[in-house]
Amino acid sequence: MYRGIPVTARPDERLAAGLAKIGLVMRHHAWADAGERGLTPTQSQVLALLHARGGDGLSVSAVAAEVAVSQPTVSDAVAALERKRLVARSRSEADGRVVLVRLTEPGRRVAQQAVRWPDYLVRAIDSLDADERAVFVRGLVKMVHSLQEEGQIPHSRMCPSCIYFRPHAHADQERPHHCAFVDAPIGDADLRIDCRDHESAGEALRPRLWHLFIEGRSPGADGPLPALPGS
Ligand code: SF4
Repeated sequence: MYRGIPVTARPDERLAAGLAKIGLVMRHHAWADAGERGLTPTQSQVLALLHARGGDGLSVSAVAAEVAVSQPTVSDAVAALERKRLVARSRSEADGRVVLVRLTEPGRRVAQQAVRWPDYLVRAIDSLDADERAVFVRGLVKMVHSLQEEGQIPHSRMCPSCIYFRPHAHADQERPHHCAFVDAPIGDADLRIDCRDHESAGEALRPRLWHLFIEGRSPGADGPLPALPGS
């Protein structure tokens, strides 16, 4: 007897199961790829993070906060990377009490490989069309925001928390937002989750930008936004 399509789980459970599958394959490859370079996944993450921050260097506590692992774990990873001469520690020029971790030249070369997205992931993302990508990126931004608000992950350098972000500034449906850093319209598919040019909008402005973004209201709908840096 026909019983219809079996519904074995709620949509949220099916989504969580799908994300877990993607997480599983990424974890598996992270170990394999890092292992090929003679690194642990944490060491690989530290190199990738320092590469993403340019030549600025980060303290061990800042690295721990960004990669969301404990400070002792990061200290061990940094010590191992130092032994391999991939990173070096030096005092901050701005504040001599702070010790910063920076990439060495060999470290920069290894980091460039660590930050390359694996081909299998690029192929999986390529299987989405433009509309699917836009919906997916927007959904990811909302999920990351929710995890941040719950304190599950550190705040990342996403567009909706950036002082240069102007949500729904344009009538164009495909590119409704504006990035004032590059002074160009951007769409949901262009939203950045870890942008090196990000500048925090600060505690007061961040919730306003988020609500304008989510509710589809243009900047200034609830009063003028603060002036942009340098203007
Ligand atoms: S600078 Fe980066 S994070 Fe800020 S709005 Fe532009 S793209 Fe987004």
